[in-house]
Amino acid sequence: MFKAITLTKDPDAFAARVAQLDESQLPEGDVTVRVAYSTVNYKDALAITNASPVVRRWPMVAGIDGAGVVEVSSHPLWRVGDEVILNGWGVGETHWGCLSQRARLSGDWLVRLPAGMGARQAMAIGTAGYTAMLCALALAKQGVTRELGDVLVTGATGGVGSIAVAILAKWGFRVVASTGKAAEADWLKALGAAEVIGRETLSPPGKPLQKERWAGVIDSVGSHTLANACAQSKYRGVVAACGLAQGMDFPGSVAPFILRGVRLIGVDSVMAPRTDREEAWARLAADLAPAVVDSIATPIGLAEAIARAPDVLAARIRGRLVVDVNA
Ligand code: NDP
Repeated sequence: MFKAITLTKDPDAFAARVAQLDESQLPEGDVTVRVAYSTVNYKDALAITNASPVVRRWPMVAGIDGAGVVEVSSHPLWRVGDEVILNGWGVGETHWGCLSQRARLSGDWLVRLPAGMGARQAMAIGTAGYTAMLCALALAKQGVTRELGDVLVTGATGGVGSIAVAILAKWGFRVVASTGKAAEADWLKALGAAEVIGRETLSPPGKPLQKERWAGVIDSVGSHTLANACAQSKYRGVVAACGLAQGMDFPGSVAPFILRGVRLIGVDSVMAPRTDREEAWARLAADLAPAVVDSIATPIGLAEAIARAPDVLAARIRGRLVVDVNA
């Protein structure tokens, strides 16, 4: 028997609870993982509160992220005792997830825990941090360098945002952090932000072309914020868009793209190929000091993941929630 957060709809009443499950109930898969830590990403919070249709098969075990040890494997890449990370691939949406003490997964989905990184640290980073690294690498691959000017990070106290601030600062960029939490300005500066601006400067409707400010942008917010970030990008600036915390709409114009050559790069972590994941995790291990990761993370237990999910959606969390599935 093991504990997990189950999500049920019977037939209309939704429930999220910590339940005892039997290993015989686990889904198909060629690797069984003894999960040590998971996390509550924005998407997990949507699933746990049933706020949007993240879950597409019922009943579901929540948790799009997990880190732990291989317990059983018939996959050629993985042996008993290997330490692994799982991010995405529809886990916690269509396949039972990792807010659980056990998960049965496809070995094709797993990435090796980088040397020097613990499972708790990996989940303090989680999909949010891995996506922040995919975005930062996208800027670098498009030729954004610190000499070209300031980079903007929106939703800066969130999971993606806070880790993006830390990565870009570590890479030597002058980072401008946009946040709705003015009280967290000192925390953002400790992470590496050179300047903190209020999110209200970016969230209302704006003009199609505005004063050129950003050589690069990592945006986890979408909607008018993304449109304004594009409108304020410098000539040939690069905007990496990964999120929708303000909205899924994109109420912008093509003016920044056709008159300033601004490049808008979409970033998806869920189905990203293994090579991209391995590159991102290797860079996260190399570039994020454990003390920085610890300063971003708040530890909680399995039941608390349910209680805190509404706080994630209401942007009442600073940084990341790390779930000890055995607590
Ligand atoms: P968090 O909840 O940790 O952070 C989101 C942050 O966005 C908040 O902390 C807040 O930051 C800001 N925010 C919230 N509401 C609004 C609003 N109405 N207007 C403007 N800003 C707002 O989430 P994550 O960092 O984990 O994820 C961020 C987004 O990225 C989500 O939409 C998520 O679904 C998406 N995502 C996408 C991935 C992909 O593969 N493309 C992978 C991971 C995440 P502040 O208070 O500092 O302004």
